[in-house]
Amino acid sequence: LGRARATTARRAVLDDAQPDPLLPELRAALATGRTARIGLTVHYQAVVSLTDGAVVGVEALARWEHPVLGSISPTRFIPLAEQHGLVGALGEVVLRQACAEMAALRAATGRGLLLTVNVSGHQFCDPAFPTVVAGILAGTGWPAADTVLEVTESLVEADSPVAVAALRGLRRLGVQVAIDDFGTGYSSLARLDTLPADYLKLDATFTATVVTSARRARLVRSVVALAEGLDLLVIAEGVETAEQADLLRELGCELAQGFGLHRPSPVAGLAAVLAGEGQTSTVPPLRQ
Ligand code: C2E
Ligand code: MG
Ligand code: MG
Ligand code: MG
Repeated sequence: LGRARATTARRAVLDDAQPDPLLPELRAALATGRTARIGLTVHYQAVVSLTDGAVVGVEALARWEHPVLGSISPTRFIPLAEQHGLVGALGEVVLRQACAEMAALRAATGRGLLLTVNVSGHQFCDPAFPTVVAGILAGTGWPAADTVLEVTESLVEADSPVAVAALRGLRRLGVQVAIDDFGTGYSSLARLDTLPADYLKLDATFTATVVTSARRARLVRSVVALAEGLDLLVIAEGVETAEQADLLRELGCELAQGFGLHRPSPVAGLAAVLAGEGQTSTVPPLRQ
């Protein structure tokens, strides 16, 4: 975390020289609670079972459809929010909207789903975070047990007692935890053993190369076996082709998400996917 902070500080210095024009707008919207007015919203990407294609959950992804500038990538505005102390407030808005929309969808359809939400390092290490999460769950009626908070491997790899305490605090609420982008950070087997997590999200780089290298495929099979032994479920990220889905299934990976399965969409799009589920075959609707 020390290194992460130093990097953030360096970036902040650079930013002071060339301030991002989006910053004042983001800051003002978060301060007044008018994030919808500047186009901030949440999209959902289905997480499917590779066995039968059924949607078992969704990942909430922050979106910014700027009224003038058009779509702004979260890879730009999330780090911007992080560097300027706004990511806690932004994350809260995303979590609240996601829980509220998913609770309404459940009420309308009776359909049970898991909801996974990304959490940034700063947000996560705020000692007030578990209280914030508990408040949002109570306010929206979305169950803790169906909530999965995604943290990145680099965050949990930083051997920080704060991070481990935060993970434990969240799990006491009954919330589950996923390690996002797994395989891209610096994992140690000892860390994996002591980490209180429930899911490993296998980074998209593995999905992309699993079909091009037999060695990669064996590596993924081993990761799945390792996860199984530790009671962790693997979700493969970035599945774009039927070939990738088939091979991942053969390698023992049960869950996946990706553009080839379902693209992220507003909640209405997700509702349409769920409504179509019963009528079509159970094979994942893969596009090549
Ligand atoms: P992530 O959590 O690893 O999310 C997966 C990203 O991969 C998403 O990008 C998603 O749209 C994209 N994706 C899904 N399937 C495919 C595929 O088949 N191929 C490819 N090439 N990409 C795919 P997105 O939405 O641009 O988000 C980027 C990152 O921004 C996320 O990575 C996450 O780290 C961060 N992020 C997004 N929303 C939030 C948020 O609400 N809070 C925080 N703290 N971070 C967020
Ligand atoms: Mg994620
Ligand atoms: Mg990821
Ligand atoms: Mg990723």
